[in-house]
Amino acid sequence: MNNLPSDLKNHIQKTVLKRVIPCVLLLAVFGVLLLVWGRRIFNMDNPNMRILCYIVTMLIPLWITGVPKKLIDRTYRGEIIGMRVKRSVDNESYVKPTIEHMFYKNTVYLDLRLDNGKEVTVKAYEGRDTDLNPYFYQKGDRVFHLYGTKNTIVLPAEKKKAVRCAVCGLLNSTEDDECQDCGHTLVKD
Ligand SMILES: [Zn+2]
Repeated sequence: MNNLPSDLKNHIQKTVLKRVIPCVLLLAVFGVLLLVWGRRIFNMDNPNMRILCYIVTMLIPLWITGVPKKLIDRTYRGEIIGMRVKRSVDNESYVKPTIEHMFYKNTVYLDLRLDNGKEVTVKAYEGRDTDLNPYFYQKGDRVFHLYGTKNTIVLPAEKKKAVRCAVCGLLNSTEDDECQDCGHTLVKD
């Protein structure tokens, strides 16, 4: 999307850097480790075996940081043509999952017709089952998602008075141009 406000473009760049830099640093550390101690750590006769060990070792930083999976996202804008809510059980304590800590989680999938005519299904929302969410999406609404954020916001129709910030998710007045919390440009179509 080329017509994004420049502060939102900057936000995307920062998000990518924040995710890539730790991975690059870890890769460098592992690379140096292998260069210096590789032969001692993987002390084996078969050179092919050692190369395999090196490759597997270099995959560890990717696995720890979650790159490249974390980078798979995109900015999109489109109209909701279908909606599906999946209800599942989650637990807030990963260390010691108990029944007391169990809760219902809603995951909202939206079928969208993007502005370029393509039809896609996206995961728009994931969170606890409460009274409010996830039913703020309606068929026919136009939505917007900025790369790397957790939000898929509803673009305000003419009569609507509020719009969510695409970056932090705060509900702002449509009269404002910038988010009252994080200061990023509000996308109103
Ligand atoms: Zn904001």
